Amino acid sequence: MPQHFSNEDYLKGIVLFGLNAATYKMALAKILLEAAKEQKNKIHWSELASSFFQLYKSRLAEKSMPQQGIAHRQTFMERIVQQHQSGKLSESDAIEQVGLKGFIDVIPRFQTIGTNKDIVKEFFYEFQYGSTLTLKDSLLNLSSAQLAELEGEIDARWGLLEGAFSINQSQYHLANDIREIYLQSGYERKPLTNNIPFLSGYQGNICFYCAEHLDSEIHVDHVLPRQVLQHDEVWNLVLSHPECNLLKSDRLVGKHFILKLIARNENIMGSNHPWKAKIAASLGTTPKQRAANLQKHYAKVSTVLGNNYWGGCDSYNPAIDPFYKKLITVLNNESQSI
Ligand SMILES: [Zn+2]
Repeated sequence: MPQHFSNEDYLKGIVLFGLNAATYKMALAKILLEAAKEQKNKIHWSELASSFFQLYKSRLAEKSMPQQGIAHRQTFMERIVQQHQSGKLSESDAIEQVGLKGFIDVIPRFQTIGTNKDIVKEFFYEFQYGSTLTLKDSLLNLSSAQLAELEGEIDARWGLLEGAFSINQSQYHLANDIREIYLQSGYERKPLTNNIPFLSGYQGNICFYCAEHLDSEIHVDHVLPRQVLQHDEVWNLVLSHPECNLLKSDRLVGKHFILKLIARNENIMGSNHPWKAKIAASLGTTPKQRAANLQKHYAKVSTVLGNNYWGGCDSYNPAIDPFYKKLITVLNNESQSI
């Protein structure tokens, strides 16, 4: 005998079952219930984006709990809200970004119970991506008592997910504050390829990460990931093979690369290059200050990125890295311990 479930059961199924990688389903469910409450059968994309943004903005302002489960990462919505709160993104720009990228996964995937995509396919709404979402009677016919009950369950589930996500993220608030500070003084990405000729000589004309010769294709890499530092200051830029850059990705480098970066920066300081002044302004006027300040940045970024760590290419060994044998490196680091 086929079993009969109510529309309310199906909606609970969507929200309560399945492994949620993030809290997006809860946010969308709340927006759908709100529209049903107002008996609104069409939601335009811009309204959807606006509601989504406002929901996360108030949620994160209130409690600031992680919205996804992988330690040291952020959801798109957390990044957007943080950029807005630090004054880097106006409200209308933030909403526009949400409309463009905030729904890529959740709108098409919402109508799934667990991993089953057929039971509730197009059961509650249809959508034209980027244009409108049309609610069906299955939502519009829910009684106000049912809507209230569902809303309560969604709120409880959202809180439960945040609690589960925060277990792996003991430094969440500290990491968030550090991101925020970097965000405030950060700026938009600049083209970096014009730095290649300048940087090459100071790092011994070899790849920073594997110490092999550079080929024709060269990547400019942020040693401490740009997603945290939010700037392209030269003290943090090195050249690498595209493959080495991809291997490293957004991970935290091992300590030996920080010591190498300090030595590389001293090579620039030892020259009369005009960018000397920029490095001095950012890191300090003496080698000791610069080393200490760079280590401070490394410690902060470590707090944000945690154990998302990259020790280097297998073949790399700092003890035989030709960089340390180059004349400029030897001269500039003579008085310092490496
Ligand atoms: Zn390399």
